[in-house]
Amino acid sequence: MKKRLESEGNPIGTLVCNVLGHKYVVTRRVTYHLKEFQCAYCDKQVTSDEEGQLVELSEERKEINNILYRVHRNRRKKSGLGRITP
Ligand SMILES: [Zn+2]
Repeated sequence: MKKRLESEGNPIGTLVCNVLGHKYVVTRRVTYHLKEFQCAYCDKQVTSDEEGQLVELSEERKEINNILYRVHRNRRKKSGLGRITP
């Protein structure tokens, strides 16, 4: 294999992932459809995008997710209060 291994994560995990593919576990639930994942073997982090595809969790993505997380949480709180009818 001439492909360079990723420098991040542990090398054995990365090797396993190259052969078997990543084994993602959910690390954070941002919204109902949006989640952040981390590979159990090589610690690679990904997130689902607007279309439900897995993309690399870049700093920019992380920022977007943080905002969405806050908005989502606030909205849930508001709708919860909205149910209390006078
Ligand atoms: Zn992996």
